[in-house]
Amino acid sequence: MLKDQDRIFTNLYGMYQSTLEGARTRGHWDKTADLIKKGRDWIIQEIKESGLRGRGGAGFPTGLKWSFMPKESDGRPSYLVVNADESEPGTCKDREIMRHEPHTLIEGCLLASFAMNAHTCYIYIRGEYIREREVLQRAIDEAYFARLLGKNAADSGWDFDLFLHHGAGAYICGEETALLESLEGKKGMPRMKPPFPAGAGLYGCPTTVNNVESIAVVPTILRRGADWFAGFGRPNNTGTKLFAISGHVNNPCVVEESMSIPFDELIEKHCGGIRGGWDNLKAVIPGGASVPCVRGEHMMNAIMDFDYLRNELGSGLGTAAVIVMDQSTDIIKAIWRLSKFYKHESCGQCTPCREGTGWMMRVMERLVLGQAEDREIDMLFEVTKQVEGHTICALGDAAAWPIQGLIRNFRDEIEDRIKNKDVRPAWAAVAAE
Ligand code: SF4
Repeated sequence: MLKDQDRIFTNLYGMYQSTLEGARTRGHWDKTADLIKKGRDWIIQEIKESGLRGRGGAGFPTGLKWSFMPKESDGRPSYLVVNADESEPGTCKDREIMRHEPHTLIEGCLLASFAMNAHTCYIYIRGEYIREREVLQRAIDEAYFARLLGKNAADSGWDFDLFLHHGAGAYICGEETALLESLEGKKGMPRMKPPFPAGAGLYGCPTTVNNVESIAVVPTILRRGADWFAGFGRPNNTGTKLFAISGHVNNPCVVEESMSIPFDELIEKHCGGIRGGWDNLKAVIPGGASVPCVRGEHMMNAIMDFDYLRNELGSGLGTAAVIVMDQSTDIIKAIWRLSKFYKHESCGQCTPCREGTGWMMRVMERLVLGQAEDREIDMLFEVTKQVEGHTICALGDAAAWPIQGLIRNFRDEIEDRIKNKDVRPAWAAVAAE
């Protein structure tokens, strides 16, 4: 279990002040100028050596991503954009940073922007996060007042402006290019890639989009050293990580833990175990709504990191939003609900996603009711394969994977439902709404 002295987020539960004064007592904004004076290459190298992988779901190495930004400007400005549009069902970790540790994030914005030659950074916050925006804006104002932002930010010689932009509540704006479109004042629709944002992003200028947690851990990594951060977890899966555990555990929570922590330890130590005991565990979605679910018995010995969950269980760590379901769960209905979400949130720009998400949701509806034919299970799986990888952005994949996970892991339950179609459960009418 992670020791208290190794925690980056020491005010995750809001027990102390989120103000600048409070943040300073916890070690933030301590000699920030000295870190900046070590230079851009040093910062990027430290982040590379720390092994930090993006905390927004894709797990792309953060230092490598930063190194794609142009070292010298061709006349265009560079931008850092922080993706705070946390909207995926089950994912609720970034909001804890924003409302209780806003200065960790703001300091990270300054350091990361300097490393990427950006004088301007935007934080794009989810529309529903109104209180979080208020806290964050207050912290930004405080930082400006204390001259930690603005001209000669934190006495570092670097001019830096930070803006907070409030989204309007569309899930798709969490996709990095849709986010940039929205920030530019257009409809939040993903762009075709290439060009990638590092070449032509916000207003056609070099841009890096990073998740809140990825940026908020940067100051501590730089202060304590890449080796310290790399000392947690397994190779290629290093560092500490926020896990957001919801569903049928005794104490749902958001907790910072070492990467690669065993699943059973995570649940026992922080969540007080599974509701009704381990025999009552049915399924787990280990990384937010878009990754495939896993059968409970396969999760018992799971290691919570990117590589294990992908290679051994065919799922993913995603945002580390762990959704636990016990035997009382109608897993077919649970996945149908996710299908409904993705259908609702599809921007409609490309055909496989626009048509496919609706099609998949309607077949899922029939499976919930047991009104489908057996052959439709394979047909549905085939359709998910035709959507996956054939769309402009990853929402198509996100809609396909939960269904694939359901069919791979709970086919017996779907078949039983079809066999017993005459015995319609009481909630059937709700599912058909
Ligand atoms: Fe829009 Fe879906 Fe295509 Fe993404 S995959 S661009 S959400 S239609």
